Amino acid sequence: MVFQSMMWCSSGRRRIATRLAALVSYWKQFSKQFFRKKLSRGDTLIQDRQVFSVESVQAIDDPLDVTQSIEEQETQVCKAVVPVMAQPQCLATPAPFLVVRNLKKAYAGSTTARLVLNDISLSVERGEFVIITGPSGAGKSVLLRVLGCLERPSKGEYWLAGRKINLFPMDKLALLRNQQLGFIFQQPGLLPHTSVLKNVALPLLYAGFSEAEQKRRAQKVLSALGLNARLLYTPERLSRGQQQRVAIARALVNSPALLLADEPTGNMDTRNEREIMAVLQALNQRKVTIILVTRNADLAIYAKRHILLGDGYIVNDKLIVNTQRALDDLEQSVTIDEIYPGV
Ligand code: ADP
Repeated sequence: MVFQSMMWCSSGRRRIATRLAALVSYWKQFSKQFFRKKLSRGDTLIQDRQVFSVESVQAIDDPLDVTQSIEEQETQVCKAVVPVMAQPQCLATPAPFLVVRNLKKAYAGSTTARLVLNDISLSVERGEFVIITGPSGAGKSVLLRVLGCLERPSKGEYWLAGRKINLFPMDKLALLRNQQLGFIFQQPGLLPHTSVLKNVALPLLYAGFSEAEQKRRAQKVLSALGLNARLLYTPERLSRGQQQRVAIARALVNSPALLLADEPTGNMDTRNEREIMAVLQALNQRKVTIILVTRNADLAIYAKRHILLGDGYIVNDKLIVNTQRALDDLEQSVTIDEIYPGV
């Protein structure tokens, strides 16, 4: 199966020669990279802009046996490394930022296991703004928790930033979460008696930054989100939309590559809802990749791609042709600067 996914499956003498040349050249590169740095399972090797994951260090250590048939040599390579994306053309194009394949999630029931995500396959490129909607119980939050490495899938593959992470141990997943992911939930979850500035600086405190650096970075992101005048306020003095903006600032302060949002506008009035969507759109314009799950399918007009989930399956996955600017839908009284200075 893995073997099928490599580009070297073809017929005809010329193609066989090309396959062999590619195989040997790749193998040399992999071996070089292997000797240069200590590799372990799950590490990545990059060759011609394509990302491969190390499956077996033992196999990569064995020299390629050139007396064997091409198929046997390919099998040896495939035991050692796996391409991130099982598409022949992937050797010419960079791998997507996030790939899940045949993902399943089951929870133990009273008698049998209950499948709540069933055969989910999708890929997300850097810079996308994906909205996932579906009825209550469709599996949206579970999917977001799996994508956010808060839970492991029961089956299937999950690749993030070129690394196959579904088998990562929990400590490695926690590190990945801190470095690559930011989360926003329906409840902002701010410390009530702590200033906006300190709330946002908290992840930096945990990451071991100096107090001055925490302050500098938190202030920068809060200012980008239009909250410069509220740095010393406690959260209860802010509107619901402003509180959620603080939560977004806290999610962004570590500069994550992917922002995951679960019902970030839940229980908000339309004005606050649009304000938050405008902020997310502005961030997306600045290349932050966003995946947002919500029951509110009306919000799909503000994203670039809409995935509909039903009963644990992807029912539909389409691009939004005419994405609506949330700022345009906000009342005239609200200025752009008030929402997001610098847009
Ligand atoms: P949605 O976000 O689409 O409303 P969820 O993803 O929260 O739905 O839940 C999907 C299904 O998975 C629901 O039937 C829910 O009861 C079940 N579920 C979610 N989390 C757990 C859990 N930790 N243990 C058992 N079942 C769960």
